[in-house]
Amino acid sequence: MIDLTLPEEHEALRKTVQEFARAEVAPVIGDFYERGEFPYRIVAKMGAMGLFGLPIGEEYGGMGGDYFALCLALEELARVDSSVAITLEAGVSLGAMPIYRFGTDEQKQRWLPDLAAGTRLGAFGLTEPGGGSDAGATRTAAKLVDGEWVVNGSKAFITNSGTDITSHVAVTAVTGLRDDGRKEISAVIIPAGTKGFAVAKKYSKVGWNASDTHELSFDDVHVPEANLLGTQGRGYAQFLSTLDEGRVAIAALAVGLAQGCVDESLKYVAEREAFGRKIGEYQAIQFKIADMETRVHTARLAYYAAAAKMLRSQPFKREAAIAKLVASNAAMDNSREATQIFGGYGFMNDFPVARFYRDAKILEIGEGTSEVQRILIARELGLH
Ligand SMILES: Cc1cc2nc3c(=O)[nH]c(=O)nc-3n(C[C@H](O)[C@H](O)[C@H](O)COP(=O)(O)OP(=O)(O)OC[C@H]3O[C@@H](n4cnc5c(N)ncnc54)[C@H](O)[C@@H]3O)c2cc1C
Repeated sequence: MIDLTLPEEHEALRKTVQEFARAEVAPVIGDFYERGEFPYRIVAKMGAMGLFGLPIGEEYGGMGGDYFALCLALEELARVDSSVAITLEAGVSLGAMPIYRFGTDEQKQRWLPDLAAGTRLGAFGLTEPGGGSDAGATRTAAKLVDGEWVVNGSKAFITNSGTDITSHVAVTAVTGLRDDGRKEISAVIIPAGTKGFAVAKKYSKVGWNASDTHELSFDDVHVPEANLLGTQGRGYAQFLSTLDEGRVAIAALAVGLAQGCVDESLKYVAEREAFGRKIGEYQAIQFKIADMETRVHTARLAYYAAAAKMLRSQPFKREAAIAKLVASNAAMDNSREATQIFGGYGFMNDFPVARFYRDAKILEIGEGTSEVQRILIARELGLH
């Protein structure tokens, strides 16, 4: 049976997050964005609402929900602002989920309760200054010496890695050579504040300005052997599966941004006048908004379809890549059109559409560029 109606608990969550975003985020986020300031108060409220624990089991202080619930929350947040949405997305999907999925019991007990509560944030370090798409080319290395991992190297563009409440970063590192001569890559958890782990000053970014992103370096960083995440040599595979889920989440976030463009445009065209008429009466404007709505609808269906397969534990790599590709396109196109509809005001940072415009571009880059999504889709079709 095909039924796209949301179950009651999902619908209730969507509404709660929508109300929160409109009442608590929308009025203040523009100032945080302008100052490039991380919104601790908003993140604390999101934590108190249980958003950081949505897909995490109750035994670790989570809400015991599913990953689709997280997607719906991200969509509603990004409809108002993407900095808070990506803070949640990276905190859960990249910070907590690798530990939840691959961690030992001890690691889960140690890290998850705070991450699920949103009182601490985890980060995920895959990308390096020398490259992100070719994740297998990792140069950061971890060597086991006298029962400790000694990590050397650097990571670039790592979200949530330098806040006052950052708990750790899980990094991919070369831990040896495989039988076929390729690099053996594992993941190692490095607690914030460990000696030799340096967080560079925040980047000056085009968008996501109220989110936290840093370059990280590791100079003879020692962590216990027990900080290996999952199985030695499986770090690459673990991160790839983390990214498959993450792409559905980023698609949801992109749909939210694209929907926000429709919301803002509808309000504006009912007020703004030109040549003696509301601009919403001009068919050129109506067509823009009709196209925007069509993109949102199509992209939402794409991420719902990916999420449905993911929740049924069916292979969903192809659907996740399609959803991310379609939704990031929709976000880019809609933000460009919404800015156009707002005319000169669309170029002013006081208006949310200007923020949407600046925040849309990264959606075609982060968690796998659009080219990488196309590579994945082509591979799923048997093209190598
Ligand atoms: C704000 C922000 C937050 C981020 N957060 C995180 C995070 O938390 N953790 C993390 O690990 N990373 C994070 N990233 C990094 C992000 O995932 C990478 O930027 C992205 O994967 C691309 O890697 P790159 O920047 O090294 O580009 P490159 O890999 O150098 O790619 C450059 C260009 O070449 C293209 N290209 C590469 N290979 C191919 C190919 N085979 N065929 C065709 N085209 C190709 C790419 O699509 C791209 O257009 C973040 C980035 C930003 C900007």
